[in-house]
Order: sequence, then C-alpha cells, then structure tokens
Amino acid sequence: MTQIITRFPPSPTGTLHIGGVRTALFNYLFAKQNSGNFILRFEDTDKERSKKEFEVDILNALKWTGLKHDNEVIEHQSERLSIYQDFLKQMINAGTAYEAEESKDGNGKVIRFKNPNKEIVFEDMIRGTVTVDTTDLEDFVIARNAESPLYHLTVVVDDAEMGITHVIRGEEHVSNTPRQILLQEALGFTRPIYAHLPLILAPDKSKLSKRHGAVSTNTYKDQGFLPEAIVNYLALLGWHPQDDREIFSMDELIKEFDLSRVQKGGAVFDIQKLRSINKQYIQELSEKVFIEKVKEFLPASFVEIPEYNEDILMHIMPVLHERIETFGDLNEMYGAGELEYFFKTPEINAEDLLWKKEPSKEKTAAHIAHIIDTLQN
Ligand code: GLU
Repeated sequence: MTQIITRFPPSPTGTLHIGGVRTALFNYLFAKQNSGNFILRFEDTDKERSKKEFEVDILNALKWTGLKHDNEVIEHQSERLSIYQDFLKQMINAGTAYEAEESKDGNGKVIRFKNPNKEIVFEDMIRGTVTVDTTDLEDFVIARNAESPLYHLTVVVDDAEMGITHVIRGEEHVSNTPRQILLQEALGFTRPIYAHLPLILAPDKSKLSKRHGAVSTNTYKDQGFLPEAIVNYLALLGWHPQDDREIFSMDELIKEFDLSRVQKGGAVFDIQKLRSINKQYIQELSEKVFIEKVKEFLPASFVEIPEYNEDILMHIMPVLHERIETFGDLNEMYGAGELEYFFKTPEINAEDLLWKKEPSKEKTAAHIAHIIDTLQN
C-alpha cells in the first residue's frame, strides 16, 4: 500500500487565518489516521508579498494548535526555482508549453501552457464527480519567464516530487484543479486524490473575513482560547460525527474524523459555539493550571491597584473557574468593575440607605444587618 502523504502549503503573505488551521487540521487528521505523513511547505515565490514574519506567525500558530508536520526540513518554493526551471524546459521541448506575448498589446513575453482543450473528470472525496471542459481556460500562463514559474506549475511539481497522495484544500481551489490536472498529465505525473473543503462562512452567510471579528489564529491565543478547544471546534466546521457528540480530543479526532463525511455546503463559524466549547475545556482544567492561566491573563493594571491581594484572588478562583468562557473575559470583567468589586470594601453612606417609607434608623439598621448576614452566608 502506498504511504499516504498530505500537505499544508501556505503562502506566507499574511498571518495564519483560522480557516487555514482547519485546512491544516483536516490534512493532519487524515494523514495520522492512515499512519501517513503531513507535510508543511511555504509557497513563497511571490517575493514582494512573502515575509519571514508571516512564516513565524504560521509556525507559531501550527505549534500552538499541535499540528506538527512530519518533514524535518520545511521546503520553500523560493529555494526550488531550478527544479521548476527544468520542468519548464522539459515542457517547452515537448511542445506542451511555449513563449508568447502576455497580451494582445504586447506587454512582454510569458510562458503559456498548450491546452489540449479536453474534458477533465475527477473524483472529489467530498464533492463527488467533477467534470470540466478546459477549453474556456485557454492557453493559461504558467510562468512569467523561464526563471519565474507561477502557482499552478510550482504546486503540481511540488505535489508530485513530495509524493502527495491527497490534496485536501479549500473550495476556492476547485477551479484550479482542472488546470493542475492538465499540467500533471503533460508532465506524466500521478494524479493525487482531491478533497475540497466547504467554505467557512460568517453568520450572515458571507465569506468569513476580518470585518466579522478575529480571523488570525494567534489572536485567539491572545484572547485566552485554549488550543484544544480551537482544534475541537474547527473539526466540527464541515464535519459532523455520526452521533451528536461534540467534545473530541486530538486523539479521538484521529480515530473518529471521516473526510468522506465532510459536507459540501458552507460551514458557519459560530463564535458563541466556540466560546461554549472553550468554557467546557476551561472547566476541565485542574485548579493549579487554571490559577496559572488566570495569573497570566489578569490585566496588569488590575494587579497594580492598591487593593489587589493574592489571598482574595485565591478565594474567588472557584467563582472565576465556573464563570469565564475565555481567559480574555477577565479583562472584560475588570473593565466592567466586576473584579475590583471583590477586593474593595464598598463605600456606603448610611444616610443614603435610609428606607424612604420607614424613615427609622432602627429599621434601616435591621435591614442592613439582615443583608450583611445574607451576603456573608
Ligand atoms: N499556497 C496556496 C494557498 O495558500 C496553496 C493552495 C493549495 O493548497 O494548492 O492557498
């Protein structure tokens, strides 16, 4: 049996989008449940937009979520240019690619693929049989010049050279697949199996983007979500277990996850659901770990107030443990005055508390004594 190899090939042109983590997760789960390998590579041929800082962000986010890649050396397309150049030459010699004007107005030369204009049929593990007439794709551009290959060519060469058996990626790439299959056929490569994951939608059913709130994975870390909760929730974005079970550890996901049962239709990203799953994971934390996390996330300005006192903090830990959904909630509680409340003696002016209907100091005092007694208990 061939070894199953999946891949996650981000372009380091931005921070890692939460949807990217779902793609990485599905690739990781599928590889692990088949004793296969999960490969990470950086598609950084766009020199202007690719930045090391984004690679660092992507690596941190993958590490945080526990999606460890199996390749020791992370490949960079920018370091593989000579490989693509060889394949380009091979194609030009074989007549499957040729140099041509970029546009009718002659903006310089590019390298185009000689499209055989045929029907491409592929079996998508999620979408079923997909049939595309490639005539409309015309002789598409595969390189700016002999030195600068473009995405379709690099991805096809890399997937073949790295022995990728399954290409699991977002639905936005479905339209790229026929082009990539044509290139594989021209180069004599084996076709991988494709699975295109449903789009991640905002509650208003538009594509999830920044205007709907945080999309960058590391922001969720900073907001006090737990990586186990993020992984658990993302697994449910498009996949539904056979029963209505909701809580899965990574090991359980490796056993239970089923790529062929992923839905075709868009999956709505529901922040309330994520928060509620996160809360369940927080409640499972030991007291010790919970306390460490609270200390890590307590706003510095709160710890600096004169009334701050660690003994009191320890006393209110159970209240916090029961209540918060993310550790970032501590910041909001502080902002709303809900933390200081526990630490400061309330300033009470007895005159203000006089009962209007029964303006007798004795009755008021009795009421207050009763209230104190109630609160103390
Ligand atoms: N670098 C591409 C991206 O970031 C990879 C697409 C693919 O999976 O083929 O979207």
